[in-house]
Amino acid sequence: MSKPVLSIFSDGVRYDSLQYMPFSNSLNSVPLETILGYSITCHPSMYTGVYPDKHKIAFHWIKSNKKHGPYSLLGAFPNIFPFSSPNIQAIASHIYAKLFLKRKARSFMGYGKILNLPMKFWNQIDINEFKYWDDNNYINENIKTIFEILRKEKIKYHVSGLYKPNLGKIDTIKIVDQKNFEWIYYFIGESDSISHKFTQHSDEGKEFLLKLDKFIEKRYNENLMLYGKDGFDLVFWSDHGHIPIQKRYNLYNIFKENEFKLNSLFNIIDSTTVRFWTKTDVQREQIVKVMDQIPEAHLVTEEQFGQLHLPKDENLYGILFYYLDGGTVFTHTIHGFGKDVKSMHGYHPDAKGNEGIFVSNRKINSKKVTLPDVFASTISSLGFKQYLKGIDGQNRIS
Ligand SMILES: [Zn+2]
Repeated sequence: MSKPVLSIFSDGVRYDSLQYMPFSNSLNSVPLETILGYSITCHPSMYTGVYPDKHKIAFHWIKSNKKHGPYSLLGAFPNIFPFSSPNIQAIASHIYAKLFLKRKARSFMGYGKILNLPMKFWNQIDINEFKYWDDNNYINENIKTIFEILRKEKIKYHVSGLYKPNLGKIDTIKIVDQKNFEWIYYFIGESDSISHKFTQHSDEGKEFLLKLDKFIEKRYNENLMLYGKDGFDLVFWSDHGHIPIQKRYNLYNIFKENEFKLNSLFNIIDSTTVRFWTKTDVQREQIVKVMDQIPEAHLVTEEQFGQLHLPKDENLYGILFYYLDGGTVFTHTIHGFGKDVKSMHGYHPDAKGNEGIFVSNRKINSKKVTLPDVFASTISSLGFKQYLKGIDGQNRIS
């Protein structure tokens, strides 16, 4: 049996934010287990029903296995002043990406600016995501997104908020009547940016949560009038939570204090993770020794890669891959300085406050829902259970 489905995604909404959302709180809800990574890693899982060990989207940048990456040309610049200045690098990579790389890929993340990684390493970089979420063959021939499946099945669907320039702004969402569409997908990204800027439970954050809650209530009531209580399925979810920042580390300074030149090897530092591509065992030991001084940093072991459903692929995660405890960040990252951000995500799924949310008007048959489950539940409601074969997610609503 198939039913119309109303899907509302809101980026980064914490499970405990339900207390500020009276309507959503009156429906059924459970926490959503996130994946260690950022939105770029989470989204493919909620659109395909498989974990990163299958879809292999790990981060904006990865180590290239090709001879030349998209930034190779800039990597040919001599590594001397002014080219070694992070700000000059940022401008150079930004202009270069805008002029030459934009046509190559139209992924959600695009080609970002590169700041703190010296240009001599840029020829080793590749990007991880080339297509937009709803493009054909977003992942590959075998792993299909909900968008591809519904197009193949000739299902009428409406998506709003997913695209630039208004990406996820709640006031720009194009609201339509569900009677013309079997699947409606409203993508709200604003919750994430407001949380970064003010923290989620600040006055600004709470005000937004209430606005979001009213949006959901309105859409729910419109469908209630059309179909009655049991005639449609509503799913409101997020991809991860948000944790206020309490501690900041500058890895460049820490390594300098330990007389180790961080930029002697290819590395990718982001807000909550760092990847090192060490060349020798000695180098590896030296790095572990320095990282051991940061009590909030944890090395992901081979066993943990499996538990976290991450691919054990050195091009994606380096030889050494560390993540930080909730509320801790690195400041000087590959693409920024992290000075203005007040709240962060991209932590271990078990970090307090990092849980996402899963809300439905249907019964939820599980104490916790995963990102692949979102795909599985949606596709099941729409009547396409045959696509559950071989995926990681399960239908959680009835
Ligand atoms: Zn997100």
